[in-house]
Amino acid sequence: MTVLLSGCVDLWTPPMDTGFENGQAPAGALTVITNECLVINRIAQPLRELLDAANAEGVGLAPERSSFLPPGVTGPPKIESCYRSYDGQVWWRNYYCSIGECQKAATPGSSKHGFGRAVDFQDQRGELTFESPGYLWLAANAGTYGFYQPANQQQGAPGEEAWHWEHE
Ligand SMILES: [Zn+2]
Repeated sequence: MTVLLSGCVDLWTPPMDTGFENGQAPAGALTVITNECLVINRIAQPLRELLDAANAEGVGLAPERSSFLPPGVTGPPKIESCYRSYDGQVWWRNYYCSIGECQKAATPGSSKHGFGRAVDFQDQRGELTFESPGYLWLAANAGTYGFYQPANQQQGAPGEEAWHWEHE
């Protein structure tokens, strides 16, 4: 079965200092990394450094540029690989529930994407799997830049997602 991009389950509890509601960031709180990726300002530099380092080593890591949905499935109105608006979270939740896999998408308002602190990556082969060069590079190096995979997205976990990484 094809691995699909998910809305990303996340059991993380938001800190009190975020300053905005999940999925409702004011424009000034976010930095544009790519057309598909905005992050909370303070993780922009570590994310850029991570991407630069991977690419310098020949690993084509980037925030996802496509939704990696099955043929015939129309994606969300706007691809949001990093910060995800509340409406975007609702789209993914509805999609996964429509195929009987609600557990693959966080309840809207509870995802770290909604705080601009999660990134879904692809590499030169497309969507990351646990065998992708991009995943293997992240597993070895992401911690240097403050990125990690929460337990529920790690390989073998119920919500495993090779592409989903977070920053505190
Ligand atoms: Zn994600």
